[in-house]
Amino acid sequence: MKIAFIGLGNMGGPMAMNLKKAGHEVKAFDLSAEACKKYAAEGLGIASSAADSVAGAEVVISMLPASAHVEGLFLGGAGKPGLLESIAAGTLVIDSSTIAAATSRKVAEAAAAKGIAMIDAPVSGGTGGAIAGTLTFMVGGEARDLERARPVLEKMGANIFHAGAAGAGQTAKICNNMLLGILMIGTSEALALGVANGLDPKVLSEIMRRSSGGNWALEKYNPMPGVMDTAPASKNYAGGFGTDLMLKDLGLAQENATAVRAATPLGGLARSLYAAHSLAGHGALDFSSVLKLVQKAS
Ligand code: NAD
Repeated sequence: MKIAFIGLGNMGGPMAMNLKKAGHEVKAFDLSAEACKKYAAEGLGIASSAADSVAGAEVVISMLPASAHVEGLFLGGAGKPGLLESIAAGTLVIDSSTIAAATSRKVAEAAAAKGIAMIDAPVSGGTGGAIAGTLTFMVGGEARDLERARPVLEKMGANIFHAGAAGAGQTAKICNNMLLGILMIGTSEALALGVANGLDPKVLSEIMRRSSGGNWALEKYNPMPGVMDTAPASKNYAGGFGTDLMLKDLGLAQENATAVRAATPLGGLARSLYAAHSLAGHGALDFSSVLKLVQKAS
């Protein structure tokens, strides 16, 4: 299949590589020349612009940071035409970015008006899942469009859920990430408390992992440096899922909670804690660095 892939960041790069490895003809584009160079060196086809990448594509995939990037790319603005103008009718667009459900619906409606099918398919599983091709996709949109997307999604993920109509994938994603943001802070607090009492963080992590406090952070993403070689914490919190991206998702959850009058007290507190962490200069570090907020500096 001819696939255009836009956004070669921490997630998009490895996802595009998995499509190439599966035999698809991928033409990718990123605004960052550095990202394009990195993946060109790995053999990925690189286009000269987003419009160039979609020429002749049967499927267009986007993996961008936030709502404004997705809206700006597809709908344009400030006198610039959106990418929807360059995408042929009948093409399938899959947006895997985590953005506001309302933005997903707006872009999907504009696409439908041009005869272009679009689904929101945000992911969970982190950069490890993107590299291994084991992501979870949470899809919003028409069931028939998901079926068209399935063979492509299966090359990048292990679990595919249909959450509901357009935007529903985004709603499922912010519920999940609100929980993840909260549990990373809780896990950090528990580890910092144990270490302050002289416990070995590796031993404590293993005790909690196998006890009732066990969770995804302890399984795959331990926030304490040196406990888990593969976790961003052991790589100076580089790569992974940026604090500012987690802050964005918690903001989306709070906006949504306000709109539907839901009570999300811990989600609100978690957003404030990640905001404080970002203001302290840690926005670009992986979100598990939130441990620094609760641990005595060594
Ligand atoms: P990232 O910041 O590493 O990458 C985003 C890429 O998009 C950058 O390379 C940037 O140059 C590019 N970009 C921005 N605007 C562009 C445009 N108009 N055209 C082309 N390229 C453009 O972000 P990421 O970690 O890859 O995350 C991408 C999305 O996936 C976010 O919405 C994030 O919330 C979500 N997500 C991330 C993770 C994770 O662990 N990193 C996990 C699940 C979901």
